[in-house]
Amino acid sequence: MGLKGGPFRGASRKDPEEPVMFEKITPAKPDAILSIMQAFREDKRANKIDLSVGVYKNETGGTPIVQALREAEQILYRQQDTKTYLGTTGDAGFNTAITKLVFGPNADYARLATAQTPGGSGALRIIADLIRAARPEATIHAPDPTWANHIPLLSSAGLELKTYAYFDAATGGIRFDAMMRDLAQAKPGDVVLLHGCCHNPTGADLDQAQWKSIGTLLVDRGLLPLIDLAYLGLGSGLEEDAFSVRHLMNVVPEMAVAVSCSKNFAVYRDRVGAAFILAATPGAADVAGAKLATIGRGMWSMPPDHGAAAVKIVLEDAGLTANWKAELDAMRMRIQSLRANLAGEITRLTNADFGFVTRQTGMFSRLPLAEGQARR
Ligand code: PMP
Repeated sequence: MGLKGGPFRGASRKDPEEPVMFEKITPAKPDAILSIMQAFREDKRANKIDLSVGVYKNETGGTPIVQALREAEQILYRQQDTKTYLGTTGDAGFNTAITKLVFGPNADYARLATAQTPGGSGALRIIADLIRAARPEATIHAPDPTWANHIPLLSSAGLELKTYAYFDAATGGIRFDAMMRDLAQAKPGDVVLLHGCCHNPTGADLDQAQWKSIGTLLVDRGLLPLIDLAYLGLGSGLEEDAFSVRHLMNVVPEMAVAVSCSKNFAVYRDRVGAAFILAATPGAADVAGAKLATIGRGMWSMPPDHGAAAVKIVLEDAGLTANWKAELDAMRMRIQSLRANLAGEITRLTNADFGFVTRQTGMFSRLPLAEGQARR
């Protein structure tokens, strides 16, 4: 017996002309990024390169498992003696370890609430729901452009989304003055979505002086930063990439941060991430943390354990942490050398200046190509 069949023919379908529930659904628009991944899989050519999705590739086009993580998985395999439920906010040990990694040794930990989530996407989703619960009239201001999936993840909580000026196509950098002007128009209590490092999809990041100016503006205007940190350690280094979060933490009363371990620990399919709320007081952090847990409970009940348990083992062991950092640095250096080669080669071929590709960071760049050139 095959798995595919024809339409339902039972007598209980009263009127075959009248659509039943699932026949009323209008087909969803295919996800632009995922449909390129699909087209890539179906393409039979041997010299194909997938330039769509933010996944690190090595010299042979593979996305290997980080060695330190593989060792952690072996420890987990030997030591794990139960798979009973952990709870709605995941593994407390993972939450402590990832908090220290992101916020550093000098954070005001009492004002921070953390929840383990299914990837950075899960973190964005529950943070959006928390904002909606706290301030339903808040607008989220997102950079133009931003990661395509920010829009469904943040708007499905029912919040309004607007864009602010960000990428400068003429220079490959940021329209910083226009960005500041746009954000100065946001109403107090609104939320500003910022990419902590390695902006997706442009590669154009704020420098430290610009982060400081943004911090001042957020405080002056009473705006809440929501930082998406999906590429920590893949831009300029672990400490450098955490500057955004660590600087803002010291100047704003409240902040939300969504962290992904997908890329820097290469655990993409294991779904590892965390949501953080920095509240004005320890009491408010406790309440926000409990609310995050309730929202997660209604969304996925509990986050998946395996990947986060392995990341915890890496971060709690000095030797494994050192090995992971070395592997992460090697990924980052390879990305930088690819960027330099690409910039050099296009500049040579076109005689135009593509030096901006080397000034940008992370896995993405927005090249000034027309649609036909991109397709080709
Ligand atoms: N934010 C940005 C900017 C991203 O690029 C990604 C992954 N593409 C994520 C968040 C979420 O990553 P994940 O849910 O896979 O951890």
